[in-house]
Formats: sequence, C-alpha cells, structure tokens
Amino acid sequence: MSPLKTQYRVDWLTGQLCDGSKESLYRESINERVRYETCLALILAASVFGMFAITDYYLLGLTREYYLLVTMCIVVVSLCLILAFVIARWGSYSHRLWLHALPLWILATGIILIVPLRPESLSTQVTAVVLATMAFYLLIPNLLRLERLQRNQFLLLHEECDQNHQLLKEITHRKSLEEQLRMVAERDELTGLNSRSHFMKRAKALLQRSRLEKMPFSVFMIDVDHFKSINDTWGHSHGDWVLTKIAEVCAHSLRPTDVIGRFGGEEFVVALPNTGPDDAQAVAERLKMKVAELPLKEEMSELSLSITIGIAIANTEEVDLEALISRADQALYVGKRDGRNRVVMCHEGQG
Ligand code: GH3
Ligand code: MG
Ligand code: MG
Repeated sequence: MSPLKTQYRVDWLTGQLCDGSKESLYRESINERVRYETCLALILAASVFGMFAITDYYLLGLTREYYLLVTMCIVVVSLCLILAFVIARWGSYSHRLWLHALPLWILATGIILIVPLRPESLSTQVTAVVLATMAFYLLIPNLLRLERLQRNQFLLLHEECDQNHQLLKEITHRKSLEEQLRMVAERDELTGLNSRSHFMKRAKALLQRSRLEKMPFSVFMIDVDHFKSINDTWGHSHGDWVLTKIAEVCAHSLRPTDVIGRFGGEEFVVALPNTGPDDAQAVAERLKMKVAELPLKEEMSELSLSITIGIAIANTEEVDLEALISRADQALYVGKRDGRNRVVMCHEGQG
C-alpha cells in the first residue's frame, strides 16, 4: 500500500481527516449508512431504558422513588426517540459534527441519571458504573481506530477512482491523437483525398485482388493543365481553391470502389478495379468534362479549366502498381505533348 498523501492524513485525536474537503466527501459517502445505524441504535437504547421502567415497577411499586426514576426514563427515552426522528427525517446528520456525539451523550446521561439511582445494592451500582466506564474506554479507542480505517479505505478507493478517471482521460486523449496522426498520414491536407502513401497501400491491395479474381484494373494519372499560370494570375490561394474543387468533383464522379489520391502538386491518381479499357475511357472523359464544367469564382471567368488524363490498363498478370502508374504517367505525357485537355490510353505492353 502506498503512503497516503499529506492532505489524506487522519487526525490522531478525532480520527477525522485533516483535509476538510476530503472529510466532508467521506461524510457524504457514509451519510445514509450512519443515518440508518444511528436511528437503530437510538431506538434500541430507548427500548432498553424503557425496560428499566418496567423492572423498577416490580422492585419499587408505585413509590416516590419509582415516579422519579420513571420520569427520568421518560426523558431519556423521549430524547432518544426525538433524536432518532429528527435524524431520520432531516438527515444531513453526517455534516454536523456535534450531532455525531449526541447519541453517546444521551446514553451516558441516561446511565448516570438512572443507574446510580436504582435501588440495588451499592456493589451492583458500582459494578454498573465501572462496566459502563470500561465499555466507554474500550469502545472509544476501537471506534476511533475503526473511523480511521474506514477513512483510509475510503481515501484509497477515492484515489483509485481518481486514477482510473485520469487513465480513462489519458486513453481517450491518446486515441484522439492516434486518430489525428492516422488522418494526417492517410489524408491529403488540402483536398482531403487519400495521401500518396495511403493511396499506394489501398491501390496495391485492390490490384492484387483484381489479379486473383482475374478482373480488369485501370489507373489514371490526372494533371491540371497550365496550373502554374492559374497561380501566377490569381495567386496561390485561388490555385488551392481550384485544386480542392477538382478533387471534389473527381471524387464525386467515381464509384465508391474506386480509389483516388493526390499524387503531388496538381496531379491526382485514380485506381479503378473491375474497369476495362472502354469503361476507363468513358470514366476519364466524364471526369474531364466535369472539370471543364466546374463553376469558378467570378474573377476567374476567363479561365478555361482543363485536365489531361493518362490511362494504363493492367496486364492479366500485372501486379506491379508502380509500373502501371508509370505507364499512365507516360500516357499523360503524350497527352500534354499533343495539346492537353485530352484522355490518352496506354495499351497493354506499351511504354
Ligand atoms: P502543365 O499543363 O504542363 O501541367 O503545366 P502546369 O503549369 O500545370 O505544370 P507545372 O509543373 O509547370 O506547374 C505546376 C504548378 O503547380 C507549380 C506549383 O507551384 C503548383 N503547385 C503545386 N502544388 C500546389 C499547391 O498545393 N497549391 C498551389 N496553389 N499550387 C501548387
Ligand atoms: Mg504536373
Ligand atoms: Mg499541370
């Protein structure tokens, strides 16, 4: 067990915690139990004192001494019952320190008032008082020890709860950091598309699967035409905006099974599983058209935005994605050389 922190120290005399806020927390936690147990103890004490009245009647009969004893019994029993009622009804007993000791005081007063006045022999009375005093002496240190132990247990539990809470917070924080890191690694910051490395990972898996299933597989390399002049004319922020719009329109025009990534600068790359040459050509033409039709900012009205797309179709046994991309890149180069704003296909075995 680790040593308790300073604020968790327990006062040697009262058995209470030195830290007031911790003490009230502890009291809060035991409130219900203490209320119940105190009420029970007070009712029991009232019954015991009540029984004195019955035995005294048999011993003394209806004499003056008996009436005196009965009056004291009634006072003590009433006090016990009233206190039990008050505690049961209004609770919050555990917050009031003075109430804590009240049941003990009532019992002690009851014993002092009733026992010495009882008509038994002096030796019985002395024995009763000695026993009561011993009981107090035995009871009180044990009660103090118990109080201390219970508080220590409460504090340890509390500390454990705090640590668990901290741990949970730490775990949540770490998870969110991991998620952020994953996002940074997998997403392109500007366009939100797959980053180049993440695209490669996903496209490799798709290519392998297509080979296993013997399904066609295509790759597009897309490059924005004369993008440098867009930057030069309207500035980099407008250039960025154009890139995000192109990324958006392309991503929306593809099937959910296709994977698109930003390859770098103003170049995008697409992997299309289950796509043969005819379909690939049609998809690329559609992308080119969608980009050309993109609504631009007012000040960019004279810009005729276009892209050039190079397509490579995988050979039946081809599993090398890099080689496929490089063929698509060569097709793109041909498209650029032939005047841009076009789709060029690199056929099997070419390149
Ligand atoms: P081409 O038709 O031959 O492709 O000409 P181009 O001007 O598009 O090609 P070039 O390679 O000469 O220029 C690409 C430009 O793209 C240069 C670079 O500053 C710009 N660029 C690259 N990444 C970004 C980016 O994230 N944001 C912006 N605004 N510009 C970028
Ligand atoms: Mg380029
Ligand atoms: Mg370009």
